[in-house]
Formats: sequence, structure tokens, C-alpha cells
Amino acid sequence: MSVMRKSLEHLLDSNKLEEDAIYLGVLTAMGVKPLSRLEYAVAPDVLSLLQDLRLRVVSVRRVAQDGSEVIHWILGRDSGLIDQYKSDFDGTPIREGIPAVIRAEARYFGFPACCAEAYIRDPLALSTLTPEEQGLLFHRACPGCKETPKLIPLYRSALREAKRLHKELRLLP
Ligand SMILES: [Zn+2]
Repeated sequence: MSVMRKSLEHLLDSNKLEEDAIYLGVLTAMGVKPLSRLEYAVAPDVLSLLQDLRLRVVSVRRVAQDGSEVIHWILGRDSGLIDQYKSDFDGTPIREGIPAVIRAEARYFGFPACCAEAYIRDPLALSTLTPEEQGLLFHRACPGCKETPKLIPLYRSALREAKRLHKELRLLP
């Protein structure tokens, strides 16, 4: 693979990550998600954009499986809720599949409780949404979910707004 091709792919990836960060920011600013978590750092102008959405952005230190430190960024409008998340998770190891953590994250990140419970029972259960609908989400909808379909229009309009803000910021065509 050529260097140019590689750098183009890198650019596309970083554009996608940036758009996702803004998308999470808009969802959180709209109150669809009480908090959101970014697992990567964003450029200073993206951070300013998030702050312009009246979000507070706070770093939380976690410990990966191999013992290394990982920084997450928590976005939210409610300072009290951010502080609560930080006191629950700062300095703690990242562990997958712990029911109490899945339930807590569902509350913090605005995932329906039915989907969290279904995920705890069977992490591989397939969502009955279309792939396009499921692709809008940051949680896996439970089979036959009654709650997620109410969220879909909100996620869709947040994504439109995020794409608009991202284009404006980067002067993309
Ligand atoms: Zn559900």
C-alpha cells in the first residue's frame, strides 16, 4: 500500500472519529444522552466546539488490561453527574461484561434499561433494527425493543446537526 493511500485512510479515519465526537456532543447537548464518553483525544478546535455546545469536558483515568493508563473524556451538561461518574470510575480498571457496570453505563449514557438487561443476558443477541438504524446508536438495541425506536429520530437529527457542524468547522464540501 502506498504512503499516500495510507495517509488518505488515516485522514478518513480521523474525520470519522471527529464526526463521532461531535455527534456524541450534539446528542449530549440535546439531553438524549446524559453523558458521553470519548475514548480518544480530539483536536483543540473540536474541544472548543463541544464547549460551545455548553458541555463540560472532563478527563477520567482508567487502567487497561495490561496495566497501562488510559484517558477517557466525559462530556456532559450536568456537572454533578460528571463528578459522580468520575468518582465511580476514575482510577478503576476497565473490565468488560460486569452487570453492575453495564447498568451504570446505561444510566449515564442514556441506553434503555431493557437493552442493558438483554445485553447482560446475552451479549450476542441480535438487534431487530435495520443495520442503518442500529448504526446510529452507541448501544445494541434488544430484540424487539420498544424504547430504542423512540430514540431513533432524535439520533438521526443529532447526526445531521453533527455533520453540519463538522463541515462548517473543517470547511468540508
Ligand atoms: Zn431495549
